[in-house]
Amino acid sequence: MRGGAVIPLADRFGRVATDLRVSLTDRCNLRCTYCMPEEGLAWLPREQQLTDDEVIRLIRVSVERLGIREVRFTGGEPLLRRGLVGIIEAAARLAPRPTLMLTTNGIGLERLAAPLRDAGLDRINVSLDTLDPERFQALTRRDRLADVLRGLSAAAAAGLTPVKINTVLMRGINDDEAPALLRFALDHGYQLRFIEQMPLDAQHQWDRHTMVTAEEILAGLAPFDLQPDPVSRGTAPAETWLVPGHVDAAGEPARVGVIGSVTRPFCGDCDRTRLTADGQVRNCLFATEESDLRKLLREDAGDDEVAEAWRVAMSGKRAGHGIDDPTFLQPARPMSAIGG
Ligand code: SAM
Ligand code: SF4
Repeated sequence: MRGGAVIPLADRFGRVATDLRVSLTDRCNLRCTYCMPEEGLAWLPREQQLTDDEVIRLIRVSVERLGIREVRFTGGEPLLRRGLVGIIEAAARLAPRPTLMLTTNGIGLERLAAPLRDAGLDRINVSLDTLDPERFQALTRRDRLADVLRGLSAAAAAGLTPVKINTVLMRGINDDEAPALLRFALDHGYQLRFIEQMPLDAQHQWDRHTMVTAEEILAGLAPFDLQPDPVSRGTAPAETWLVPGHVDAAGEPARVGVIGSVTRPFCGDCDRTRLTADGQVRNCLFATEESDLRKLLREDAGDDEVAEAWRVAMSGKRAGHGIDDPTFLQPARPMSAIGG
């Protein structure tokens, strides 16, 4: 490790961030209706995006100076980032070595799974909301279901296990598919997690009254006779249940997760900090303010100065996301630009 003591990213409520989410691009090859409009979303200009070296430097500072232990690469679609494999290789060489994870829509994963694993990626989440090609086309506005399924298989074959699947249910679109998706996951040894839809769509069309709640998701899974998971959830956002009669790829009892971000918020246990593709620190998905680390990097600031600016940004983290508060304001940036 280079010089400088580790002073962690603590906030006023006693939470310490050890999990960094890095958005590698705001671009995407799908257009999921709950995330992006069909067209018209402006991309970040290239010069505003962090270069690969800048991303790697910020990850290094976060690990060496701020105590980050897990790094998750996301976007937009992180597999579209040309330097992805090199960024992961560099992150895997850090000491102490962080756990490296990635969230992807799975397109292109068939080709990239093995190189990513070889570079040092530890785990992967693949987003999949339906098994029906027509619904997939309606939900993502692209006909790419087969690519995603091939990507999932390649991730498992490359040893990125347990492969996790993220699913968002939309009322009247795919909310009847929870049992089929769970059966598919059980059959293939994937771990399924449902995520409540959040007000982070670029179109600002989210509606509290139509979102599918954690309670409804669990009701839809009643045929599986889910049992409470005796293993503590820790700081993980997903509440998990055991699926009786099934084991996962490692021979452990099979589990299914539900992330009730809206109706069962876990802000009190949040251990995350976020870096956007243009080098802004966000202390929460729903933060309305950001802190500009790119400017510091490009003004030749030293690691200590960058680390301190990151700490200051995190110290102001609010107690909760406040979605249910009448004064709640959806952040100006959509999920695809913040990094999910
Ligand atoms: N493109 C990659 C993908 O889809 O996995 C990574 C970025 S995406 C923003 C990360 C995760 O956020 C995906 O699982 C996606 O389904 C989820 N997501 C996107 N918009 C969401 C929303 N409004 N509410 C809840 N989850 C959302
Ligand atoms: Fe792209 Fe992921 Fe957003 Fe879908 S959820 S549009 S795949 S960034």
